[in-house]
Amino acid sequence: MRVKLVAGNWKMNGSLASNQGLLSAIIPAIAPFSRMKCAVCVPFPYLAQMRQMLGGSNIAWGAQDLCEFDNGAYTGGVSASMLADFGCRYVLVGHSERRGMFGESDEVVAVKFGKALAAGLTPILCIGETLAEREAGVTENTVARQIDAVIAHSGVKALGQAVVAYEPVWAIGTGKTATTEQAQMVHAFIRGRVAAADEEVAAALPILYGGSVKAANSAQLFAMPDIDGGLIGGASLIADEFAVICRSAQPAD
Ligand code: PEP
Repeated sequence: MRVKLVAGNWKMNGSLASNQGLLSAIIPAIAPFSRMKCAVCVPFPYLAQMRQMLGGSNIAWGAQDLCEFDNGAYTGGVSASMLADFGCRYVLVGHSERRGMFGESDEVVAVKFGKALAAGLTPILCIGETLAEREAGVTENTVARQIDAVIAHSGVKALGQAVVAYEPVWAIGTGKTATTEQAQMVHAFIRGRVAAADEEVAAALPILYGGSVKAANSAQLFAMPDIDGGLIGGASLIADEFAVICRSAQPAD
């Protein structure tokens, strides 16, 4: 039985003061949810604040990216071991904003994935098609290529220590959500692709859905058999919305 995970992606938002307000509301709201997992992925400068405020809570924390190189002469880079130093459990890898705006190739994403694992972090591998790819009918080719790059680099067993997030690029921050059926179809395809290499890893693999998830649609999405929670952007910055989304990931009594 896969435990559902709801991970917030704060993107490049926040300040020490606003984070304090948001977390002060979220921590008690999430505290009763013992049968789901919750995390927030925040900008690097706020990791120390997460460690201080979330240590001892049932909310894990993580980063939104990492450098593909180890420590050394990589000005501006933040390595996997630095994230581990700050108590990160998770790190997003290959978010579509990194792939699209910062030119991260499947190969670079695969290397970052490997570095995260080697440092004991759980990578949340983000994959998904653009609108043009969906309209061209190549959604499955795109997600297969993105996941295959990671399997080629780290081996399929590595996915046993990871999370996949399917995020159709056309649904991120646009208010357009994939229908539950559209999302389930792609999630089932991803699981099948991994199962072709290793059935046990595929059966245990958490596959999150991301793309305009909010309190009003999370329960329907999370009820689908291959949707194991969500990666939440905009709605993770609103305490009440995020709490309702987390509640919908908690199995019914
Ligand atoms: C995201 O940033 O990963 C995301 C899914 O954003 P939003 O929920 O705002 O669409």
